[in-house]
Amino acid sequence: MTADLDVIVIGAGVVGLSCAIAAKERGLSVAVLDREGPAAGASAGNAGAFAFTDILPLASPGILKKAPKWLLDPLGPLTVPPAYALKIAPWMFRFWRACSAARVAHSTAAQTALMDLSKAELEPFLARTGTLAMLRKEGNLQVYEGKAELDASLPGWAARQAHGIEFHHLDAAGMAEIQPGLAPRFTHGTFTPGWYSIADPRLYTLALADHLRAHGGLVERMEVKALRPLESGVEIIGADGGVRRAAKVVLAAGAFSHRIARTIGEAIPLETERGYNTTLPPGAFDLRTQITFGGHGFVVTRLSTGIRVGGAVELGGLELKPNFRRSEAMLKKAQAFLPALKPEGGVQWMGFRPSLPDSLPAIGQARATQRVIHAFGHGHLGLTQSAGTARIVADLLTGHKPAIDIASFSPQRF
Ligand SMILES: Cc1cc2nc3c(=O)[nH]c(=O)nc-3n(C[C@H](O)[C@H](O)[C@H](O)COP(=O)(O)OP(=O)(O)OC[C@H]3O[C@@H](n4cnc5c(N)ncnc54)[C@H](O)[C@@H]3O)c2cc1C
Repeated sequence: MTADLDVIVIGAGVVGLSCAIAAKERGLSVAVLDREGPAAGASAGNAGAFAFTDILPLASPGILKKAPKWLLDPLGPLTVPPAYALKIAPWMFRFWRACSAARVAHSTAAQTALMDLSKAELEPFLARTGTLAMLRKEGNLQVYEGKAELDASLPGWAARQAHGIEFHHLDAAGMAEIQPGLAPRFTHGTFTPGWYSIADPRLYTLALADHLRAHGGLVERMEVKALRPLESGVEIIGADGGVRRAAKVVLAAGAFSHRIARTIGEAIPLETERGYNTTLPPGAFDLRTQITFGGHGFVVTRLSTGIRVGGAVELGGLELKPNFRRSEAMLKKAQAFLPALKPEGGVQWMGFRPSLPDSLPAIGQARATQRVIHAFGHGHLGLTQSAGTARIVADLLTGHKPAIDIASFSPQRF
């Protein structure tokens, strides 16, 4: 077989498009296939943060302490719909096992390396793709209801400090200088200046697709059903029976990637942490930084297209209908926490975070063939880690040693 193209990327989200651009920059011919077109998945509606300081894995003893209380509230920060509880039990068991002190230390070190690479790669990548004007450096303000909540967060901050992350603990007056208008119940906060954001994640993802096309890459619609490794390439079989061929394939189909990996005999425990939000008109609040209401599991973000209120984790799989009462519940809380927030005119959204149980992505070659490279499972951090992932994938595609050690991201680690 003669491969038609050097590389086909499956999935035109922020991860797939970043990988495709990085491959094109190495001189490879590239097409991206997506069943719906660019920015159809989580990359469109996320909170827009480059959360480089977020190095602590979600799978940690801290979350185990908070989870029982959160699970009591059906519209709270963490829910497991009864219809999906049994199905997700094996993933939760792996998540629980990843919460040991030794595993958390390991994941934190791996996450820090990927964050550092992603941060170093980001601005040059934005400059090369003509999207640098979309970058905002407004930091993040994590707020606490009382000194006890701040105190409970201190071990996490100490761990971040050990990895060189800058932050400042603030009292109410200090917070008001950065962000006026918080309800008085928030008495303490922590500001991290090294947390960036993008003006709008959907527009950014679409701009990456435009850049790729303008530089000779293809972006096409095709629902991929299966992969078939051949001696000198890979066949990509479409749901409509169509077949495409490439010398190599990058699998970046977000929360749906495991279904395609399964067709080459690989069982990867990918699940989705469904997240919800409401995007209000731009004038809804005078927001100066991204605010994280950590105790309530949501953030408020200023985008060029509006004020986005959202977060939450619903472990409900890929098929259950969205429950937009969750978006409403967060908006109601946001109104109480930011009394001047105007709640009218919002647009609701639900998206599928692609999540592996140890909170690390899967980046590396498939078990069945080195010609398929996995690049998915970034959970809460796909935008943040997109430029670093693209650099690693381009290294793998061109036979170079990746810029960082990727053993911890091995798709076969489970
Ligand atoms: C509420 C919420 C807030 C978030 N906030 C942030 C944040 O602030 N910062 C951050 O870094 N991350 C955030 N995330 C996570 C981030 O959005 C994801 O990690 C990231 O978008 C994943 O990108 P992706 O390209 O892997 O997947 P996606 O964007 O989901 O793209 C996958 C693509 O694959 C396509 N596809 C799927 N199956 C097939 C198939 N069979 N054939 C062809 N195409 C297929 C889909 O159509 C889709 O376009 C948030 C997520 C949510 C839900």
